[in-house]
Amino acid sequence: MIKNGKNETMKIEDWNDWYVVADFDRTITNGNSKTSWSILASSDLVPREYAADRDALYEKYRPIEIDPDMPLEEKSRLVKEWFELHINLFIKYGIKEELFEKAAMDLRIMEFRNGANAFLKSLAERGVPLIIISAGLGNFIECFLRNNGCLYDNIYISSNKITFTDGVATGVEGNIIHSLNKNEVSLPEDIKARVANRSKVLLLGDQESDLKMVDESTHNQVLKVAFVAQDTVDQDHLKSLEGFDLVMEPGEDYFTMMNEIDKEKKITI
Ligand SMILES: [Mg+2]
Repeated sequence: MIKNGKNETMKIEDWNDWYVVADFDRTITNGNSKTSWSILASSDLVPREYAADRDALYEKYRPIEIDPDMPLEEKSRLVKEWFELHINLFIKYGIKEELFEKAAMDLRIMEFRNGANAFLKSLAERGVPLIIISAGLGNFIECFLRNNGCLYDNIYISSNKITFTDGVATGVEGNIIHSLNKNEVSLPEDIKARVANRSKVLLLGDQESDLKMVDESTHNQVLKVAFVAQDTVDQDHLKSLEGFDLVMEPGEDYFTMMNEIDKEKKITI
């Protein structure tokens, strides 16, 4: 575990003061999981042409997404364009809603990070709100949590939700969320009301852009925890995570995190 800049980690004493804001792909899922955008392409349930078109988009736009030299505004515009073109592929190939369900059930492509499901359960039991902000596909996130018995009432998902008409993809609901505009997510009033009396936030992510999910100036305390996957451990990547208070290294998991931050240590995850 890497502790950035502080000798003493902030502890969570009273969970009634806290809520959780978490990224989904490779934060709640493990580092080997496919991202929710790539799940359909890995599935043998979709036409090969879809997978080829999707791969072509990935090859064109992924270098842009991670280009450190491109101005943020230009990059944001292009990444949004990428997501829109990908959604157009769902429409072009008439992707069916049931395929999303089936693909999400396939454990070979998406799995909880160790302890994440127990962590979600403990939040539900304590009534701690959890807001998932994901640039992925909300449909998969919902299916995945439901299939695993973890779609609890305390969870709100802000993500890209594909809409279907008569079971066939027709578009996307609301604004597109991508890795560079996670700070622009606006929560519905009922969710804002649910967290209004909680001034402290536990933020969970796996990349630098996840830090933008919470505006620190409007909260008393924000405890930021990152998880790294085996395949992303290099010095540049670790440096990019310096804004997080704690960085969980490969082999460390939700149990490690809770041991470190949960003062009550009552959690039985
Ligand atoms: Mg992620």
